[in-house]
Amino acid sequence: MSTPDQQQRRYADPSGWSDSSARSVLQLMAESVAQMVGFEVTALSVVIEDELVTVAYVGPEEYRAYVEQPDPADVLEPVLVAAEQWGPRLRFLAAEDHAELEGHWVEFEQEQLDHPDAWRAQDVLLAVLTDDDGTMVGAVSVDRPLSGLRPDAVQRDLLERYAAQAERAVLTAFEREELLQQVAHAESARRMIRAASMPAHASLEAVLRSTHRPLVEGFRASGSWIHVLDADCPGGSYARQHDGETVTMRPEVVEEARRVAPRLWRDQTVLVVVAGETPGVPDVIHRELEALGLSTVLAVPLGAGEECLGFMALTRREQDPPWSPVEIDSARQIGHDLGAALMTARALESERALVRELKQLDDYRSQLIATMSHELRTPLAVIAGNLEMLGTLDLEAVAMMHHAAMTRGSDRMKKVVDDLLMLARVSNPRYPLATVPVDVRDITLEVVELIETSARAKQLTVELALEPTDLVVPGDPTELDRLIGNLVSNAVKYTPAGGTVTVEVALGTDEVVIRVSDNGMGISEEDQAGLFGAFFRTTNPEALAQPGTGLGLAIVATIVERHEGSVAVQSELGAGTTFTVGLPLAHSRKGTPVPGVPAPRRAAVQIA
Ligand code: ADP
Repeated sequence: MSTPDQQQRRYADPSGWSDSSARSVLQLMAESVAQMVGFEVTALSVVIEDELVTVAYVGPEEYRAYVEQPDPADVLEPVLVAAEQWGPRLRFLAAEDHAELEGHWVEFEQEQLDHPDAWRAQDVLLAVLTDDDGTMVGAVSVDRPLSGLRPDAVQRDLLERYAAQAERAVLTAFEREELLQQVAHAESARRMIRAASMPAHASLEAVLRSTHRPLVEGFRASGSWIHVLDADCPGGSYARQHDGETVTMRPEVVEEARRVAPRLWRDQTVLVVVAGETPGVPDVIHRELEALGLSTVLAVPLGAGEECLGFMALTRREQDPPWSPVEIDSARQIGHDLGAALMTARALESERALVRELKQLDDYRSQLIATMSHELRTPLAVIAGNLEMLGTLDLEAVAMMHHAAMTRGSDRMKKVVDDLLMLARVSNPRYPLATVPVDVRDITLEVVELIETSARAKQLTVELALEPTDLVVPGDPTELDRLIGNLVSNAVKYTPAGGTVTVEVALGTDEVVIRVSDNGMGISEEDQAGLFGAFFRTTNPEALAQPGTGLGLAIVATIVERHEGSVAVQSELGAGTTFTVGLPLAHSRKGTPVPGVPAPRRAAVQIA
């Protein structure tokens, strides 16, 4: 028999045993021994870590607390050395053969019979309970025989048989507890891995890093290694010892893992490798396990659906127990959880790459637009200047006609170049918004005044409703001017003669609201979807007949975004359109609506 401290069991304190029925069974055992064999006192103790803890006691109540105090497990050693062996488990140490014993040995005082076999208060009779390896797992000790005599052969035999039953009960209790703990550990590992694999954390490297701790803790492993099969995956191999130290895997080992994982996934199985023993495993693996001081590895494939995505290895050392079926099954399930997490991480990774690519493309497009429009601006200025010069000359009628056509063309080109330049400017993150207080009323008035001529030419009514209060927002005046200008000029452009354009500016709860409405040609629902994209023009032939670049609303949307505002459109084909823009007020005014502000004063400006 090995001494109790040769091997330490990892069981929890029995007071914390999740399976309390185990305690009741052991108590029942103790009671049976007392009754059936004929002892007043029976104590059943188990070895927990390196302590002998009493878990069941029958006997006088006044002794209970004392008996139940744990002793170091080696307290029995001197007794066992000196005791007489009465059976495979039974040991008897006669009072006359020992001096005072250390530990919680109780002398249950009892009147001693006048008999050669009389029981003496200092007699020790106990059964040592061991597991299959001969390691002590507990003890049953008895005292105060009802007969007052040391047990005879019949009693000893009975006691030995009860001890065998008690041994089985203790081992079963330990196994059950061990099983329950394994399930709890593996469950917590799964929970933690699932939590770590949530999309918020789901960069591939983060997923791998976050799994290490739950794995080594949940599986009481000495280390973990996760390898992602995707060959181009950076950071896709993560091996750590339980103390967090990195382990670099040899290429041959990686190669073997990559070879084995898909087969394991296909068969939905795992592989337990015992160092130096498991057949069919290449020598290089056995050598590596030995070099790393590992006794066993649990190799698990990671995957989702048909696809094997990676490989996980959990390791244990010499002193650790072998992998139990519960642990093996949990690890297999974790292969699925982690596989799903890898899948998400991989999808996210490629989504990010796509976004990066699109962003580069977008940058390139902006750059191209900016360069082209800059390059066009100078020659255009030369053309426009010369046309202006020509206009001052006394031209013949035909030349005048050509001059007028060229001027119209150059004006249109200038508009296109201006729009391109503005879009490039407001879309360029290197030119962040520089704000000053801007009165939206003033800007709106200027815009409406400027549009007057073309509105009058189309015989449109322009109604202006400005709230008679400060409507100041932090912003870029040029950009805000362009924002309102684009909306109002569109309303004028896309409203047939005789229609009405209404421009309102009012104070909202924490923003200035600009509303530009018309009763013009309207925009179909399908066309509204792409309205704010660059170069977008509607499919309406009536609208397409008007000159345009499709840049105006893209500029509007970008400026609104830079000012952290909002823009919305409401429209019905053939009935009219309303654009509503909200621009946040300066912080000092934010959230402080002005109470009692009178309704907007409607100033109808009839332009005819
Ligand atoms: P552009 O006017 O230069 O074509 P915009 O970006 O300003 O470009 O507008 C995009 C499209 O949206 C226009 O081509 C037009 O068809 C439609 N649109 C814009 N404003 C209105 C409006 N007030 N009424 C009807 N259609 C409009």
